[in-house]
Amino acid sequence: MRIVFIGPPGAGKGTQCKRLASHLEIPHLSTGEMLRDTPRGSELAELVSSYIDAGQLAPDELVMPIVIDRLADEDCAQGCLFDGFPRTVNQAEMLDRFLGERDDQLNLVLHLDVNVDELVGRLLKRAEVENRVDDTKETIAARLAVFREQTAPVLDYYAREGRVEKIDGMRSPDDVFSQIVQAVDARRSS
Ligand code: AMP
Repeated sequence: MRIVFIGPPGAGKGTQCKRLASHLEIPHLSTGEMLRDTPRGSELAELVSSYIDAGQLAPDELVMPIVIDRLADEDCAQGCLFDGFPRTVNQAEMLDRFLGERDDQLNLVLHLDVNVDELVGRLLKRAEVENRVDDTKETIAARLAVFREQTAPVLDYYAREGRVEKIDGMRSPDDVFSQIVQAVDARRSS
């Protein structure tokens, strides 16, 4: 199964994706993690951090090759879970084209829906625990704006083809996970 997971920063995407990937035994492809893993000290790493630290999206030309390279790995042959990708309609179109050329496709798009006021509080808490450079008040505001302006249209793009299942992200983590499993099981048996 190929699943895309979309939700604003702080919605609990990372946690739920890890759990779902291990439940389905498919690889978890987090573009945020892949970008953060760019070897330090290189020019590329500096370029990547300039976007991440400002809460802005890295350019599609930088993100697409990383994803496409990873998809060529054998463990991705039977499926994968995309976390934080696609984040622009252009990325979504490129992914569809790439998969389509291989007679492959996305099976499901999960939209983790959370109230924005709740998100700011959660992100500030995460900043204390994880010490992420992109969890400052200013960067959080920038990342939420990026989500609204560039990533929310991706949901409209997928919704046109009936691929989106909305998950209520305001419930407890266990509750959220059981909604996700239900949506996946329903899609698998349809
Ligand atoms: P995340 O860990 O998913 O919250 O991503 C952290 C940061 O990595 C984002 O704020 C962006 O700067 C960058 N990033 C992650 N995924 C993408 C993507 N698909 N396209 C562009 N930039 C991305």
